[in-house]
Amino acid sequence: MSAIGRSSDTSAGIDLTSAFLFDLDGTLYTSEGVIPGAVDAVGTLRSRGVPLRFVTNTTRTSRRAVADRLASFGFAVADEELFTPAIAAGTVLHERRIELISPFVARDLLDDLEGFSLCGGVSSQRCTARPGAVLVGDLGNDWTPALLNEAFRYVMDGALLLALHKGRYWMGPQGLELDAGAYVAGLEYATGVQALLCGKPQVTFFDSVVLSLGLRRPFRDGERPVMIGDDLWNDIEGAQRAGLSAWLVRTGKFRADVLESSTITPDRVVDSVADVIQ
Ligand SMILES: [Mg+2]
Repeated sequence: MSAIGRSSDTSAGIDLTSAFLFDLDGTLYTSEGVIPGAVDAVGTLRSRGVPLRFVTNTTRTSRRAVADRLASFGFAVADEELFTPAIAAGTVLHERRIELISPFVARDLLDDLEGFSLCGGVSSQRCTARPGAVLVGDLGNDWTPALLNEAFRYVMDGALLLALHKGRYWMGPQGLELDAGAYVAGLEYATGVQALLCGKPQVTFFDSVVLSLGLRRPFRDGERPVMIGDDLWNDIEGAQRAGLSAWLVRTGKFRADVLESSTITPDRVVDSVADVIQ
């Protein structure tokens, strides 16, 4: 029996079918290429009229570049279907009516901040007024003490401290490297201000994706969207906290021992994203 088309699966305690949210890296593709059957699965769901969203925590490339990458694998994804932490940051800034931002992010991400005024940070404009927010992301080796001091001063003067994520480290070409979280934590420590976070696993991130589907918590019967991903914390635990059904794939960073030793229970565990149409 197909997973799609059932209004509920009481044996697993899940409601299906209102919409699917897909993680990208590790779920639709890996560094080795596209996951076998993934393009077909996404295409089949589309042909059945199931609304789709694509949610990634990437903070080094713009939404357009992510969409181009997906297209190169054979996934046609519209801008409004694709959610990144930078897009979520834009939503937060709009909601708070903050227009002048100081960006400390990878320069490619400046494309996603169109519509805002930028000064200081990695922008080409000097700040002549205090920015309403400091946006912190992945600057990697481009971080300097001067840039950290600049961000620090804006926050001390009252700017909102907004962080794309608070990742601790990642595996770079030379070995483990500090991720944005180390810099965010440093700014939090020095300013005494807690950063507002964007992206997975923030419930507000999932809420904004779900809202784009015309849904909001608490979901009615048959409305509960499904998040499918390979990250136990960002994809599964985060989505469940936001009231979604969460399916873990055995691809990407999946490790059976990590699942078994965790306290997280996915609503379903599937071999790969191809199984959503089995
Ligand atoms: Mg992933």
